[in-house]
Amino acid sequence: MAENARQAQQLLQPLPTDLAASYFEEVIGRLGVTLEVRLDSKDKGKGVFATKAFAEEDVIFEEPALVGAQHTANRDDALVCSHCFRFIGSIGIQIAHRLLAKGCSDVNPDYLRSLWSGVAELPYSERYPLPELVTCLGGCVDTVYCSDGCAAANWAAHHRLLCSGPRAPPAPVSAPAEDHHPRRPSSFEAFRESRERLQTPGLQSLTAPMREEPPNLRKADAVRRFKEHADETNDAFHLAAQVIAGTLLRADEPLSNGFAPEARITSDRNWAALQRAWRPYAAAWKAPWWECVAIPEDVTDGDSFRSDLQELASDSLKLLKAFLYDERFPALFHLDVYGSIMAMFELNNLGIYVASPVEEYFELCHAEGGGLSEEEQKLTQLITRPLLDSLGESYEAGCQGSAFYALQSCCNHSCVPNAHAFKRANIDIDGRATVLAKRPIAPGEEVCLSYIDEDAPYHERCAALADYGFTCACDKCVAEAGVPGKAAV
Ligand SMILES: [Zn+2]
Ligand SMILES: [Zn+2]
Ligand SMILES: [Zn+2]
Repeated sequence: MAENARQAQQLLQPLPTDLAASYFEEVIGRLGVTLEVRLDSKDKGKGVFATKAFAEEDVIFEEPALVGAQHTANRDDALVCSHCFRFIGSIGIQIAHRLLAKGCSDVNPDYLRSLWSGVAELPYSERYPLPELVTCLGGCVDTVYCSDGCAAANWAAHHRLLCSGPRAPPAPVSAPAEDHHPRRPSSFEAFRESRERLQTPGLQSLTAPMREEPPNLRKADAVRRFKEHADETNDAFHLAAQVIAGTLLRADEPLSNGFAPEARITSDRNWAALQRAWRPYAAAWKAPWWECVAIPEDVTDGDSFRSDLQELASDSLKLLKAFLYDERFPALFHLDVYGSIMAMFELNNLGIYVASPVEEYFELCHAEGGGLSEEEQKLTQLITRPLLDSLGESYEAGCQGSAFYALQSCCNHSCVPNAHAFKRANIDIDGRATVLAKRPIAPGEEVCLSYIDEDAPYHERCAALADYGFTCACDKCVAEAGVPGKAAV
């Protein structure tokens, strides 16, 4: 037990330099970028540096998320790939998905269902083609993908351990009523049906257990209980689960392949494998979430607020351990480690945003000069106007979530940044981080991003950065603090 706590504390320390260096070499190599991660840049710890010149607007790097999840509240707004966060299905499916989820009564639900299934299609929506929907390899309805590649990659990265499996014996797929719509993915109807069943209260207890696989069913129930708890309390728990599951899979792989033959003691081999697998997250916050999160202004009893958070994390971890615990890696399941992973997501600037293609579609049909003739717009709007009205002001809602990026998370902050994370219209259509140069960057220069609104007044910037646990000492802050050195107070 003491050993477990000691190892957990070690996971929360910065990586030994050799492990860190080899890890970031791997990351740089995998992304194929002309950058280096220096592990000790002045007082700021590690930082990302250019190894060639970049012109203004150049892409400095792009990288997919290591872990990422759409916000629970956003799932009804955007149907996206659970791995890369691209919009999927079709414009009609996206609109029907939202209006059906909202329980909209202004549009005929039969029409929405026919949009859902691809029987009906919206005029000109073929100008915005989206990838067809691919269901989970394990048969769950929690995840859905844009391609077989994303389904397989997500499965390998962590979903294999987090899949709740099929909820019930596969529903009979109703015979296709349409003859000339071969584009509809065959798995789509089954996916929709099972998801609808999932959302119907009461049916859960009626579902007959699948007798063929009793142990999996127990695991599936445990997975579902964990996910429901995360949905109801804090959806960053989904990300924490991905981090733990991914680390476990990466630690297990070399062990199964005879890693570290020089270590004769099994527990040492397990610990070495865990340390290696943990490398991406070794920069996680040292303090657990409940200790470092800012107390909301309307909370009077800060201590009980913090202990409530700790209890919440403890409950979530218990639910996770019920199906994921691995006795080879006890430190990975220590509450302090779980808390530091939560802190990483709650306190860092790690948002995913992907713009919705629905916005462009409505622009085509409704905006002046949107690309259709006046006559075409008039005819189209007979169909699209009621949909647009029902969607209301948030018709353009994009995909929103949280993620962790190996390289972007190494970029230090500056209030006069030379780079920014930016989504280029029609180019950056998934959840990858894209970092562009804001001005020319010379070889050897550090690539800095702004974590906050860098145009805010000095004191507001200080307050915002306090949430990230540091005081900025960039040129602008030093100048604006009046007295040099005051910025460091
Ligand atoms: Zn995808
Ligand atoms: Zn699954
Ligand atoms: Zn600053």
